[in-house]
Amino acid sequence: MRPSNLSWTLALALVVGPGGPARAREPAPLSLTVHMAEPGAAPEWLAAQVAWANRLMAPAGVAVEVTSTRPLPARHARLMTRADRDALARLRRRGTIDVFIVDHLEDVDEPGRARMGVHWRLRRDRQRRYVILSKTATPTVLAHELGHYFGNGHTDVVDNVMSYARSDPERMHFDEVQSGRIRRAARALVRAGTVRPVTRRPGPQRPAASGAAVGGAAASGGGGGGAASTGTTP
Ligand SMILES: [Zn+2]
Repeated sequence: MRPSNLSWTLALALVVGPGGPARAREPAPLSLTVHMAEPGAAPEWLAAQVAWANRLMAPAGVAVEVTSTRPLPARHARLMTRADRDALARLRRRGTIDVFIVDHLEDVDEPGRARMGVHWRLRRDRQRRYVILSKTATPTVLAHELGHYFGNGHTDVVDNVMSYARSDPERMHFDEVQSGRIRRAARALVRAGTVRPVTRRPGPQRPAASGAAVGGAAASGGGGGGAASTGTTP
């Protein structure tokens, strides 16, 4: 098997779900394209958003990775209306989850109020959708909006990612039903070619690479140990 095929198989093994032994535990990150208004948010801010999303989605066996960062034209930096949100649709990229990071995201239902994030569907074609984050978003907002992206609605359960009721960041979680939804939605998006898993290009003589990737994924997930033990439960 050629290395490229191998990495593609590993990528699908995770996203497609069970069926393999240990390799199925390795999250094959899905591509995120970040469109960032100038001045850009701090790299640490973005890294924290992604790290939290991956930690919280680890039980679903889904991860994301920023594969491209693009400048967002200044006219899109402050989104006040539904039309402003719709206007981002033409900037979408193929095969990736678009995340637009803006200076201000107005609450279109309650003008005068700022939002930290939204999962937006283009009004004239609701299949075209993307995530918008304010640069002021707290670290788990990307995880919440991806929760919507992968098919989840809101809940009132305290410390659930899809709830506004919070007591302790360390208790944040997607429940099993939500995680299942995320896993299935990610699988469907990959099968449809809507979102690509990030394929690695391992060196030809480096069979240890996949082992290292598994360890790295578990470590970077933060809750990776918990995810692994959940995953090995029959
Ligand atoms: Zn929401």
